[in-house]
Amino acid sequence: MKNKVLASLFIFLLIFAALPPFLTSAEADDVIAIGDLTVHFIDVGQGDSCFVELPDGRNMLVDAGTSAYGKTVESYINDNIKDEDGNSITFIDFVIFTHSDADHIGGMNYVLSKFDVGTLYRSNEECLRCADPAKSGVNERNRFWGERHGEKNTKAFHEAIERAYAVADEVIVLNPEDETQNKIESVGEKYYSINFYSPLGSFYTDLNNYSPIMIIEYRGRRIVLSGDAEKQNESEFVERAKAGEGKYSIFGSGFCADVIKLGHHGSRTSSSEDYLNIMAAGSGRKNVLVVISCGQGNSYGHPHEEVLLRLKNMGFDQNRILRTDLVGDIVITIAEQNGVFKALCVKGGNVNTGSSESTSGSESTSGSGSTGGNPSESTSGSESSGGIWDKFNGLPLAYKIIIVAVVVIVIVILVAALFPKKRRKRGKR
Ligand SMILES: [Zn+2]
Ligand SMILES: [Zn+2]
Repeated sequence: MKNKVLASLFIFLLIFAALPPFLTSAEADDVIAIGDLTVHFIDVGQGDSCFVELPDGRNMLVDAGTSAYGKTVESYINDNIKDEDGNSITFIDFVIFTHSDADHIGGMNYVLSKFDVGTLYRSNEECLRCADPAKSGVNERNRFWGERHGEKNTKAFHEAIERAYAVADEVIVLNPEDETQNKIESVGEKYYSINFYSPLGSFYTDLNNYSPIMIIEYRGRRIVLSGDAEKQNESEFVERAKAGEGKYSIFGSGFCADVIKLGHHGSRTSSSEDYLNIMAAGSGRKNVLVVISCGQGNSYGHPHEEVLLRLKNMGFDQNRILRTDLVGDIVITIAEQNGVFKALCVKGGNVNTGSSESTSGSESTSGSGSTGGNPSESTSGSESSGGIWDKFNGLPLAYKIIIVAVVVIVIVILVAALFPKKRRKRGKR
Protein backbone atom coordinates (compact mmCIF):
# COMPACT_ATOMS: atom_id res chain seq x y z
CA MET A 1 0.00 0.00 0.00
CA LYS A 2 2.87 2.32 0.80
CA ASN A 3 4.03 1.94 -2.81
CA LYS A 4 0.63 3.05 -4.10
CA VAL A 5 0.68 6.15 -1.95
CA LEU A 6 4.22 6.93 -3.07
CA ALA A 7 3.20 6.38 -6.70
CA SER A 8 0.27 8.76 -6.21
CA LEU A 9 2.53 11.37 -4.72
CA PHE A 10 4.98 10.92 -7.60
CA ILE A 11 2.22 11.47 -10.17
CA PHE A 12 1.00 14.47 -8.18
CA LEU A 13 4.50 15.99 -8.23
CA LEU A 14 4.89 15.24 -11.94
CA ILE A 15 1.65 17.04 -12.74
CA PHE A 16 2.70 20.06 -10.72
CA ALA A 17 6.12 20.08 -12.34
CA ALA A 18 4.23 20.58 -15.61
CA LEU A 19 2.20 23.45 -14.16
CA PRO A 20 4.71 26.29 -13.79
CA PRO A 21 4.10 27.64 -17.31
CA PHE A 22 0.46 28.17 -16.36
CA LEU A 23 1.28 29.63 -12.97
CA THR A 24 3.78 31.95 -14.59
CA SER A 25 1.07 33.00 -16.97
CA ALA A 26 -1.19 33.72 -14.00
CA GLU A 27 1.51 35.85 -12.46
CA ALA A 28 2.05 37.63 -15.74
CA ASP A 29 -1.65 38.44 -15.82
CA ASP A 30 -1.27 40.00 -12.41
CA VAL A 31 0.96 42.66 -13.91
CA ILE A 32 -1.41 45.39 -15.01
CA ALA A 33 -1.27 45.98 -18.73
CA ILE A 34 -0.36 49.53 -19.68
CA GLY A 35 -3.47 51.13 -21.07
CA ASP A 36 -4.05 53.60 -23.87
CA LEU A 37 -3.44 56.64 -21.70
CA THR A 38 -0.63 56.74 -19.16
CA VAL A 39 0.44 59.52 -16.84
CA HIS A 40 3.95 59.57 -15.40
CA PHE A 41 4.43 61.74 -12.32
CA ILE A 42 8.19 62.06 -12.50
CA ASP A 43 10.02 62.38 -9.19
CA VAL A 44 11.74 65.76 -9.46
CA GLY A 45 12.22 66.33 -5.74
CA GLN A 46 10.46 69.48 -4.56
CA GLY A 47 8.78 70.35 -7.85
CA ASP A 48 6.42 69.12 -10.53
CA SER A 49 6.81 67.23 -13.76
CA CYS A 50 4.27 65.06 -15.45
CA PHE A 51 4.47 63.24 -18.77
CA VAL A 52 1.31 61.95 -20.46
CA GLU A 53 1.16 59.30 -23.19
CA LEU A 54 -2.07 59.82 -25.12
CA PRO A 55 -4.19 57.15 -26.87
CA ASP A 56 -3.48 58.48 -30.38
CA GLY A 57 0.29 58.18 -29.96
CA ARG A 58 0.77 61.83 -29.13
CA ASN A 59 2.20 62.97 -25.81
CA MET A 60 2.32 65.89 -23.41
CA LEU A 61 4.79 67.25 -20.87
CA VAL A 62 3.48 69.40 -18.02
CA ASP A 63 6.32 71.20 -16.21
CA ALA A 64 9.89 69.94 -15.76
CA GLY A 65 10.98 70.57 -12.16
CA THR A 66 13.84 72.87 -11.21
CA SER A 67 16.86 73.40 -13.46
CA ALA A 68 18.69 70.72 -11.44
CA TYR A 69 16.12 68.19 -12.69
CA GLY A 70 16.05 69.01 -16.41
CA LYS A 71 18.39 66.10 -17.11
CA THR A 72 16.31 63.80 -14.89
CA VAL A 73 13.21 64.60 -16.92
CA GLU A 74 15.06 64.08 -20.21
CA SER A 75 16.48 60.73 -19.03
CA TYR A 76 13.10 59.61 -17.75
CA ILE A 77 11.52 60.32 -21.12
CA ASN A 78 14.35 58.64 -23.02
CA ASP A 79 14.25 55.56 -20.82
CA ASN A 80 10.51 55.13 -20.45
CA ILE A 81 8.70 56.66 -23.38
CA LYS A 82 9.08 54.79 -26.66
CA ASP A 83 7.55 55.29 -30.07
CA GLU A 84 5.78 52.46 -31.91
CA ASP A 85 9.13 51.09 -33.13
CA GLY A 86 10.49 50.96 -29.58
CA ASN A 87 12.81 53.93 -30.00
CA SER A 88 13.10 56.89 -27.65
CA ILE A 89 10.98 59.81 -28.75
CA THR A 90 12.40 63.01 -30.20
CA PHE A 91 9.17 65.01 -30.44
CA ILE A 92 6.79 66.20 -27.74
CA ASP A 93 3.40 67.14 -29.13
CA PHE A 94 2.21 69.33 -26.26
CA VAL A 95 4.16 71.14 -23.56
CA ILE A 96 2.47 73.03 -20.73
CA PHE A 97 4.14 75.74 -18.66
CA THR A 98 1.77 75.94 -15.69
CA HIS A 99 3.42 79.04 -14.24
CA SER A 100 6.74 80.81 -13.86
CA ASP A 101 8.05 79.32 -10.59
CA ALA A 102 11.44 77.66 -10.83
CA ASP A 103 10.27 74.32 -9.39
CA HIS A 104 8.04 73.90 -12.48
CA ILE A 105 9.74 75.81 -15.24
CA GLY A 106 13.41 75.44 -14.24
CA GLY A 107 14.09 72.23 -16.16
CA MET A 108 12.24 73.37 -19.28
CA ASN A 109 15.07 75.26 -20.97
CA TYR A 110 17.19 72.11 -20.89
CA VAL A 111 14.37 69.72 -21.87
CA LEU A 112 13.28 71.94 -24.77
CA SER A 113 16.86 71.92 -26.04
CA LYS A 114 16.61 68.11 -26.35
CA PHE A 115 13.21 67.60 -27.96
CA ASP A 116 11.26 69.12 -30.81
CA VAL A 117 7.94 70.55 -29.70
CA GLY A 118 4.56 70.90 -31.38
CA THR A 119 2.18 73.12 -29.43
CA LEU A 120 3.28 74.85 -26.25
CA TYR A 121 0.77 76.28 -23.78
CA ARG A 122 2.12 78.89 -21.40
CA SER A 123 0.65 80.78 -18.49
CA ASN A 124 -0.52 84.30 -19.16
CA GLU A 125 2.26 86.04 -17.29
CA GLU A 126 4.24 88.88 -18.68
CA CYS A 127 7.88 87.87 -18.96
CA LEU A 128 9.57 90.93 -17.56
CA ARG A 129 13.11 89.86 -18.35
CA CYS A 130 12.34 88.94 -21.95
CA ALA A 131 13.39 91.45 -24.56
CA ASP A 132 10.61 93.71 -25.74
CA PRO A 133 9.82 92.22 -29.13
CA ALA A 134 8.52 95.53 -30.42
CA LYS A 135 11.91 97.06 -29.84
CA SER A 136 14.17 94.16 -30.59
CA GLY A 137 12.40 93.20 -33.77
CA VAL A 138 12.65 89.51 -32.98
CA ASN A 139 10.60 86.77 -34.53
CA GLU A 140 6.95 87.57 -35.22
CA ARG A 141 5.90 84.78 -32.91
CA ASN A 142 7.48 86.62 -30.02
CA ARG A 143 5.07 89.48 -30.16
CA PHE A 144 2.85 88.22 -27.39
CA TRP A 145 4.61 87.83 -24.07
CA GLY A 146 1.63 87.46 -21.81
CA GLU A 147 -0.27 90.48 -20.62
CA ARG A 148 -0.66 89.93 -16.93
CA HIS A 149 1.16 90.61 -13.75
CA GLY A 150 4.51 88.91 -13.52
CA GLU A 151 6.77 91.16 -11.53
CA LYS A 152 8.36 88.35 -9.57
CA ASN A 153 8.78 85.88 -12.36
CA THR A 154 12.01 84.02 -12.53
CA LYS A 155 15.12 83.93 -14.67
CA ALA A 156 14.19 80.33 -15.39
CA PHE A 157 10.86 81.51 -16.81
CA HIS A 158 12.63 83.99 -19.05
CA GLU A 159 14.95 81.28 -20.38
CA ALA A 160 12.12 78.82 -20.88
CA ILE A 161 9.91 81.39 -22.61
CA GLU A 162 12.68 82.44 -24.98
CA ARG A 163 13.37 78.79 -25.75
CA ALA A 164 9.67 78.04 -26.18
CA TYR A 165 9.15 80.66 -28.85
CA ALA A 166 12.32 79.53 -30.57
CA VAL A 167 11.58 75.80 -30.75
CA ALA A 168 7.82 75.20 -30.60
CA ASP A 169 5.75 75.08 -33.77
CA GLU A 170 3.09 77.09 -31.98
CA VAL A 171 2.82 78.89 -28.63
CA ILE A 172 -0.61 79.44 -27.08
CA VAL A 173 -1.24 81.60 -24.04
CA LEU A 174 -3.46 79.71 -21.62
CA ASN A 175 -6.96 81.09 -21.50
CA PRO A 176 -9.77 78.80 -20.34
CA GLU A 177 -12.37 81.17 -21.82
CA ASP A 178 -11.08 80.33 -25.28
CA GLU A 179 -12.85 77.14 -26.27
CA THR A 180 -11.12 76.64 -29.57
CA GLN A 181 -7.40 76.92 -28.93
CA ASN A 182 -7.48 75.93 -25.27
CA LYS A 183 -8.68 72.41 -25.85
CA ILE A 184 -6.88 69.29 -26.99
CA GLU A 185 -8.71 66.38 -28.56
CA SER A 186 -7.70 63.08 -30.09
CA VAL A 187 -6.92 62.77 -33.76
CA GLY A 188 -7.54 59.03 -33.78
CA GLU A 189 -10.52 56.83 -33.04
CA LYS A 190 -9.81 56.56 -29.33
CA TYR A 191 -11.41 59.76 -28.14
CA TYR A 192 -9.88 61.77 -25.33
CA SER A 193 -9.96 65.41 -24.39
CA ILE A 194 -7.85 67.82 -22.37
CA ASN A 195 -9.65 70.92 -21.11
CA PHE A 196 -8.51 73.94 -19.14
CA TYR A 197 -10.94 75.29 -16.52
CA SER A 198 -8.90 78.02 -14.84
CA PRO A 199 -7.39 80.55 -14.11
CA LEU A 200 -10.48 82.72 -14.47
CA GLY A 201 -9.28 85.88 -12.75
CA SER A 202 -7.49 88.78 -14.34
CA PHE A 203 -4.54 89.52 -12.12
CA TYR A 204 -2.97 87.57 -9.32
CA THR A 205 -0.41 88.80 -6.85
CA ASP A 206 0.60 85.21 -6.23
CA LEU A 207 1.99 83.77 -9.47
CA ASN A 208 0.93 80.25 -8.43
CA ASN A 209 -2.60 81.26 -9.35
CA TYR A 210 -1.76 81.52 -13.04
CA SER A 211 -1.60 77.70 -13.04
CA PRO A 212 -4.41 76.05 -15.00
CA ILE A 213 -6.81 73.54 -13.50
CA MET A 214 -6.92 71.00 -16.30
CA ILE A 215 -8.69 67.70 -16.81
CA ILE A 216 -7.58 64.86 -19.04
CA GLU A 217 -10.54 62.64 -19.86
CA TYR A 218 -10.53 59.25 -21.51
CA ARG A 219 -13.23 56.56 -21.48
CA GLY A 220 -15.07 58.37 -18.71
CA ARG A 221 -12.02 58.46 -16.44
CA ARG A 222 -10.66 61.87 -15.43
CA ILE A 223 -7.25 63.01 -14.30
CA VAL A 224 -7.03 66.45 -12.68
CA LEU A 225 -3.83 68.51 -12.73
CA SER A 226 -3.61 72.01 -11.30
CA GLY A 227 0.03 73.07 -10.99
CA ASP A 228 0.33 75.34 -7.96
CA ALA A 229 -3.19 76.80 -8.25
CA GLU A 230 -4.16 78.15 -4.85
CA LYS A 231 -7.42 78.86 -3.08
CA GLN A 232 -8.17 82.02 -5.05
CA ASN A 233 -7.85 80.20 -8.37
CA GLU A 234 -9.80 77.26 -6.93
CA SER A 235 -12.63 79.42 -5.59
CA GLU A 236 -13.07 81.20 -8.92
CA PHE A 237 -13.22 77.78 -10.54
CA VAL A 238 -15.70 76.49 -7.92
CA GLU A 239 -18.02 79.43 -8.55
CA ARG A 240 -17.99 78.71 -12.29
CA ALA A 241 -18.39 74.96 -11.74
CA LYS A 242 -21.44 75.57 -9.53
CA ALA A 243 -22.99 77.78 -12.20
CA GLY A 244 -22.46 74.83 -14.55
CA GLU A 245 -22.54 76.70 -17.86
CA GLY A 246 -20.87 75.42 -21.02
CA LYS A 247 -17.94 73.10 -20.43
CA TYR A 248 -18.44 73.55 -16.67
CA SER A 249 -21.69 71.61 -16.92
CA ILE A 250 -19.80 68.37 -16.26
CA PHE A 251 -19.39 69.42 -12.63
CA GLY A 252 -22.62 68.28 -11.10
CA SER A 253 -23.52 66.37 -7.99
CA GLY A 254 -22.24 63.17 -9.55
CA PHE A 255 -18.89 64.38 -10.82
CA CYS A 256 -15.95 62.47 -9.44
CA ALA A 257 -12.47 62.49 -10.88
CA ASP A 258 -10.40 59.31 -10.78
CA VAL A 259 -7.00 60.88 -10.22
CA ILE A 260 -6.39 64.23 -8.53
CA LYS A 261 -2.94 65.69 -8.26
CA LEU A 262 -3.15 68.08 -5.33
CA GLY A 263 -2.33 71.70 -6.09
CA HIS A 264 0.91 73.25 -4.86
CA HIS A 265 2.54 70.01 -3.63
CA GLY A 266 -0.15 69.43 -0.99
CA SER A 267 0.26 72.88 0.54
CA ARG A 268 -2.41 74.27 2.89
CA THR A 269 -2.78 77.15 0.44
CA SER A 270 -4.53 74.79 -2.01
CA SER A 271 -6.98 71.85 -2.01
CA SER A 272 -9.81 73.71 -0.30
CA GLU A 273 -12.78 71.64 0.81
CA ASP A 274 -15.06 73.34 -1.73
CA TYR A 275 -12.67 72.50 -4.53
CA LEU A 276 -12.31 68.87 -3.48
CA ASN A 277 -16.10 68.61 -3.13
CA ILE A 278 -16.50 69.67 -6.75
CA MET A 279 -13.75 67.40 -8.06
CA ALA A 280 -14.74 64.35 -6.06
CA ALA A 281 -18.39 64.40 -5.13
CA GLY A 282 -20.20 61.47 -3.59
CA SER A 283 -19.17 58.04 -2.45
CA GLY A 284 -16.80 57.52 -5.39
CA ARG A 285 -14.39 59.74 -3.49
CA LYS A 286 -12.97 56.79 -1.58
CA ASN A 287 -11.66 55.36 -4.86
CA VAL A 288 -9.88 58.48 -6.04
CA LEU A 289 -6.13 58.21 -6.47
CA VAL A 290 -4.61 61.32 -4.92
CA VAL A 291 -1.13 62.26 -6.11
CA ILE A 292 1.21 64.62 -4.30
CA SER A 293 4.44 65.70 -5.96
CA CYS A 294 6.93 66.95 -3.39
CA GLY A 295 10.50 66.48 -2.21
CA GLN A 296 11.59 64.22 0.62
CA GLY A 297 12.03 66.30 3.78
CA ASN A 298 11.29 69.52 1.88
CA SER A 299 11.66 72.74 3.83
CA TYR A 300 8.05 73.81 3.19
CA GLY A 301 6.66 70.84 5.09
CA HIS A 302 4.67 69.70 2.01
CA PRO A 303 2.28 68.05 2.10
CA HIS A 304 0.82 69.94 5.03
CA GLU A 305 -0.78 67.94 7.84
CA GLU A 306 -4.06 69.84 7.64
CA VAL A 307 -4.45 68.88 3.98
CA LEU A 308 -3.88 65.21 4.76
CA LEU A 309 -6.35 65.50 7.64
CA ARG A 310 -8.87 67.22 5.36
CA LEU A 311 -8.60 64.36 2.88
CA LYS A 312 -9.13 61.86 5.67
CA ASN A 313 -12.12 63.70 7.13
CA MET A 314 -13.68 64.05 3.69
CA GLY A 315 -13.53 60.29 3.12
CA PHE A 316 -10.58 59.92 0.77
CA ASP A 317 -8.80 56.58 1.18
CA GLN A 318 -5.48 57.02 3.01
CA ASN A 319 -4.07 54.10 1.06
CA ARG A 320 -4.72 55.83 -2.24
CA ILE A 321 -2.64 58.87 -1.44
CA LEU A 322 0.48 58.53 -3.57
CA ARG A 323 3.47 60.74 -2.83
CA THR A 324 6.61 61.14 -4.89
CA ASP A 325 8.61 61.95 -1.73
CA LEU A 326 7.78 58.48 -0.42
CA VAL A 327 7.72 56.32 -3.54
CA GLY A 328 9.57 58.22 -6.27
CA ASP A 329 8.05 58.10 -9.75
CA ILE A 330 4.34 57.35 -9.90
CA VAL A 331 2.73 55.92 -13.02
CA ILE A 332 -1.02 55.70 -13.54
CA THR A 333 -2.62 54.16 -16.59
CA ILE A 334 -6.20 54.03 -17.84
CA ALA A 335 -6.77 50.46 -18.93
CA GLU A 336 -9.63 48.06 -19.48
CA GLN A 337 -10.07 45.37 -16.87
CA ASN A 338 -12.97 42.91 -17.12
CA GLY A 339 -14.70 45.22 -19.55
CA VAL A 340 -14.40 48.32 -17.37
CA PHE A 341 -11.95 51.16 -17.89
CA LYS A 342 -10.10 51.98 -14.70
CA ALA A 343 -7.36 54.28 -13.54
CA LEU A 344 -4.70 51.89 -12.29
CA CYS A 345 -1.47 52.70 -10.54
CA VAL A 346 1.29 50.67 -12.18
CA LYS A 347 4.18 52.21 -10.30
CA GLY A 348 4.39 53.76 -6.84
CA GLY A 349 1.06 52.33 -5.68
CA ASN A 350 2.05 49.68 -3.17
CA VAL A 351 4.23 51.68 -0.85
CA ASN A 352 2.37 54.78 0.10
CA THR A 353 1.51 56.53 3.28
CA GLY A 354 3.76 54.31 5.32
CA SER A 355 0.93 51.98 6.20
CA SER A 356 2.15 48.42 6.33
CA GLU A 357 -1.25 47.12 5.33
CA SER A 358 -1.28 45.25 2.08
CA THR A 359 -3.88 46.86 -0.09
CA SER A 360 -4.06 47.42 -3.77
CA GLY A 361 -4.27 51.15 -3.13
CA SER A 362 -4.05 51.47 -6.80
CA GLU A 363 -7.21 51.59 -8.76
CA SER A 364 -10.02 53.95 -9.27
CA THR A 365 -13.27 53.53 -11.11
CA SER A 366 -15.31 56.22 -9.50
CA GLY A 367 -17.71 56.59 -12.37
CA SER A 368 -19.95 59.61 -12.21
CA GLY A 369 -22.21 58.38 -14.94
CA SER A 370 -22.21 61.77 -16.61
CA THR A 371 -20.05 60.67 -19.52
CA GLY A 372 -18.40 57.67 -20.99
CA GLY A 373 -21.10 55.20 -20.11
CA ASN A 374 -18.78 53.13 -17.97
CA PRO A 375 -20.46 51.45 -15.07
CA SER A 376 -19.58 52.76 -11.70
CA GLU A 377 -17.94 50.08 -9.66
CA SER A 378 -16.92 49.93 -6.09
CA THR A 379 -13.34 48.89 -5.79
CA SER A 380 -13.01 49.33 -2.08
CA GLY A 381 -12.09 45.66 -1.67
CA SER A 382 -8.37 45.17 -1.61
CA GLU A 383 -6.49 42.73 -3.81
CA SER A 384 -6.06 40.34 -0.93
CA SER A 385 -9.80 39.67 -0.85
CA GLY A 386 -9.73 37.82 -4.14
CA GLY A 387 -6.13 37.42 -5.27
CA ILE A 388 -6.17 33.74 -6.31
CA TRP A 389 -9.64 33.89 -7.85
CA ASP A 390 -8.76 37.06 -9.73
CA LYS A 391 -5.71 35.29 -11.11
CA PHE A 392 -7.75 32.21 -11.99
CA ASN A 393 -10.51 34.25 -13.64
CA GLY A 394 -7.93 36.09 -15.67
CA LEU A 395 -6.60 32.86 -17.22
CA PRO A 396 -7.52 31.68 -20.71
CA LEU A 397 -10.33 29.07 -20.73
CA ALA A 398 -7.97 26.24 -21.81
CA TYR A 399 -5.77 26.84 -18.77
CA LYS A 400 -8.80 26.91 -16.49
CA ILE A 401 -9.96 23.52 -17.85
CA ILE A 402 -6.47 22.03 -17.43
CA ILE A 403 -6.16 23.31 -13.86
CA VAL A 404 -9.62 22.03 -12.90
CA ALA A 405 -8.81 18.66 -14.55
CA VAL A 406 -5.51 18.41 -12.68
CA VAL A 407 -7.16 19.20 -9.37
CA VAL A 408 -9.89 16.57 -10.02
CA ILE A 409 -7.29 13.93 -11.06
CA VAL A 410 -5.21 14.63 -7.97
CA ILE A 411 -8.24 14.29 -5.72
CA VAL A 412 -9.29 11.03 -7.44
CA ILE A 413 -5.77 9.58 -7.13
CA LEU A 414 -5.54 10.52 -3.48
CA VAL A 415 -8.96 9.08 -2.70
CA ALA A 416 -8.12 5.90 -4.65
CA ALA A 417 -4.84 5.61 -2.80
CA LEU A 418 -6.16 6.28 0.66
CA PHE A 419 -9.60 4.67 0.90
CA PRO A 420 -8.83 1.06 -0.17
CA LYS A 421 -6.16 1.08 2.48
CA LYS A 422 -8.69 2.02 5.12
CA ARG A 423 -11.14 -0.61 3.89
CA ARG A 424 -8.48 -3.30 4.00
CA LYS A 425 -7.52 -2.18 7.44
CA ARG A 426 -11.16 -2.53 8.47
CA GLY A 427 -11.27 -5.88 6.69
CA LYS A 428 -8.29 -7.17 8.63
CA ARG A 429 -9.89 -6.18 11.88
ZN1 LIG B 1 5.50 74.49 -7.15
ZN1 LIG C 1 4.61 77.89 -7.78
